[in-house]
Amino acid sequence: MDDVFKKIRLVSMEARNYSYCPYSGYSVGAALLCESGRIVVGSNIENASYSATVCAERTAFFKAVSEGEKKFTAIAISGGPKDMESDGYAYPCGICRQVMREFCDEENFKIFVVKSEDEYEEYLLKDLLPKSFGPNNLQNTSKK
Ligand code: ZN
Repeated sequence: MDDVFKKIRLVSMEARNYSYCPYSGYSVGAALLCESGRIVVGSNIENASYSATVCAERTAFFKAVSEGEKKFTAIAISGGPKDMESDGYAYPCGICRQVMREFCDEENFKIFVVKSEDEYEEYLLKDLLPKSFGPNNLQNTSKK
């Protein structure tokens, strides 16, 4: 598994090349590892109407789910000034953490925040989104 984790960290760095970030100049790449073994990439896609912007992580999740993937093992995220090496760690925003919560096991889903090939931080979803609201909260509600 360590080999595939290393691979998604590298792929997340490459995915930054596909970022569309003319407004912030901050490119982000994500590589999402599905339980099937498939790796789905995403990049941030900005918009002149700023609120229509979507993050790299959600791009990857929505691509994967729309193509039939529903179970995930890990995600790697890299970010920094466009066309430059990362200058720090691009942690997932709150909205992306909540999207992860919808599909991922809090205790097992790994999040790698990548600065370079050898510099990265590793978290579990429960570390980055403690005391969260998720699908289990709605299990016992009546659906009318
Ligand atoms: Zn986000």
